[in-house]
Amino acid sequence: TINDSPKTKRVLLLKPRGFCAGVVRAVDIVKIALDTFGAPIYVRKEIVHNSYVVNDLAEKGAIFVNELDEVPEGARVIYSAHGVSPAVRADAKARGLKVIDATCPLVTKVHVEAIKFAKQGYSLVLVGHRDHEEVEGTQGEAPDVTQVVSTLEEVDALVVPDPEKVAYLTQTTLSLDEAKYMIEALKKKFPNIHGPHAQDICYATENRQVAVKNVAHGADLVLVVGSKNSSNSNRLVEVSKNLDTNSYLIDTADAINPEWLDGVNTVAVTAGASAPEVLVKDVVEYLQGMGYGDVNEVEVMPENVRFGLPPEIVQAIASAP
Ligand code: SF4
Repeated sequence: TINDSPKTKRVLLLKPRGFCAGVVRAVDIVKIALDTFGAPIYVRKEIVHNSYVVNDLAEKGAIFVNELDEVPEGARVIYSAHGVSPAVRADAKARGLKVIDATCPLVTKVHVEAIKFAKQGYSLVLVGHRDHEEVEGTQGEAPDVTQVVSTLEEVDALVVPDPEKVAYLTQTTLSLDEAKYMIEALKKKFPNIHGPHAQDICYATENRQVAVKNVAHGADLVLVVGSKNSSNSNRLVEVSKNLDTNSYLIDTADAINPEWLDGVNTVAVTAGASAPEVLVKDVVEYLQGMGYGDVNEVEVMPENVRFGLPPEIVQAIASAP
């Protein structure tokens, strides 16, 4: 409960925050692969969108590459949590690479929906950010029939061969509010459009946004720990700003500008799904040093999701000496 005098400088530590089940799994996969097979292990793209996590794994021997042509023939490569298109899978096969797939199961679920709708002859509309790796991967399942939209103008401009045969999908890390109005616009344009039950936003993205929504009005500032290219982290900043509470995305405590704290009594702290807890701890310690001595965790909802490891890793562990 929060009943201090309004003048007390305090920190509200939101829960759930930070690592989701897909990120825990992806990071574990790289660590186990390094332990079991030894370095070098190649990783296509950032395993998750967090600089600290990527640097840490690079120090342990992971080699991050942008594309598979940077991986020597026959070497071992891990696909990131954001997934890959069938073209990348085919490329890996052609180059004789040993693949370990760290794609989040909730991203794979969207790929499966794309394949299903495309097979049934639907035109696909993918709501998402077209430069994001997840969107590239999902679009790649049915590139000839998939159009990516990220604005209402793009929905307006959509042209499909048969407006009766359209289905939509969404990126897993969108803002719930944005997805809602985009889907409403799509339903207006194509009244018979098919889609998932609500959207494809994952539980972790949703829960972190709901936590910010619950607390932002009672805070003067929301700090979101996460990297610049982390989609779900950026959405947390937007959610807060949409509620008129100032908010910044920070990679680490070093990025905090002390001026942001001028006149601020209550700071809410959260973290995107790829930001490790150690960085949150640093931020809280920094704030304590700035006089925000009263730190309370605010649990908005419980979160107990876990994903199993992929078969390549389970087998490797089983056959390790
Ligand atoms: Fe999976 Fe969601 Fe985490 Fe992305 S944010 S890795 S989709 S659980």
